Amino acid sequence: MPRVPIIAGNWKMNTTVAEGLALVDAMLPRLAALEGVERVVCPPFVSLVPIAERLRGTPIQVGAQNVYPAPQGAFTGEISPRMLEGLVSHVIVGHSERRHYFGEDDAFVQRKVQAVLEAGMVPIVCVGETLEQHEAGEGSQVVGRQARAALDGLVDVARVVIAYEPIWAIGTGHAATPDGCNATIAAIRAALSEAGVDGQAVRIQYGGSVNPDNWPALIAEPEVDGALVGGASLNADQFVDIVRLTRTT
Ligand code: PEP
Repeated sequence: MPRVPIIAGNWKMNTTVAEGLALVDAMLPRLAALEGVERVVCPPFVSLVPIAERLRGTPIQVGAQNVYPAPQGAFTGEISPRMLEGLVSHVIVGHSERRHYFGEDDAFVQRKVQAVLEAGMVPIVCVGETLEQHEAGEGSQVVGRQARAALDGLVDVARVVIAYEPIWAIGTGHAATPDGCNATIAAIRAALSEAGVDGQAVRIQYGGSVNPDNWPALIAEPEVDGALVGGASLNADQFVDIVRLTRTT
C-alpha cells in the first residue's frame, strides 16, 4: 500500500498565541486545499487550544512538540498524553534538541512512543546522527539503532512516523543530499525489518533545513515520505509551498 506523505511543521519555541493564530490564518485556506498530503502544524503547548479550535473542521491536523509518559501525577511542568487527547493527533517525540538539552535517552523516548500510541495519537519519532558520526560513516548504524530502540516491544508500529533528522542538518542551512537521505532512510527500514517490524509500512520523513528550493529533489527520492520542517514552517508561504511541491512531484 502506498505510504501517504506527511508534512509536519515544528514551530519549536517560537510564536506567541497571537502570532501562532496569525500564522495558521496566513496558511489557510491554501494549505487546506492541497489534498493528498497529511498536513500537521506543531505549535508550542500554550497555543494548542486556540489553534486546535481554529483548525477544527479543516483537514489540517495539530501536533504537540513533546509529552511526558505518565497519565498524571507529580511531574511539575509536564504535559501528559491524556491532556492532549482531543487537541492533537500527533506528538513529536525524541527531537534531537530534547535528547541534547534535556538528556532524553532511547529508553525514555520508547516510553513516550508507547504512551502516545496508547492515547490513540501518532508519534513522530525523531532519530539522527551527529556530524562526527556522519563523518565517521556511522550515520545509518546510529539511526537504525535509535529507530529500533524507539519501537522496541511495541505493537501497532504501522501508525508510527519516523523523522530522520541528521543533527548536522537541523537549522544549519545544509540539508542532506537526496541520495544520502534516501540511503539512510532505506537503512532505517532495513534495521526495523531485521528487528521484526515491517519497515516498509512505517512512514519515514526527512527533516533538516528543508525549504521550497531543496525539497523537490528530496521528495523525489522513493524512500522519503515527507518532511519535518522547522524554520520554514514559521513562514506561511514556504510551508504551503513545501506541501504543494510534495503533492505534485
Ligand atoms: C527541526 O527542528 O526538526 C528541523 C528540521 O529544523 P529546520 O528545518 O529548521 O532545520
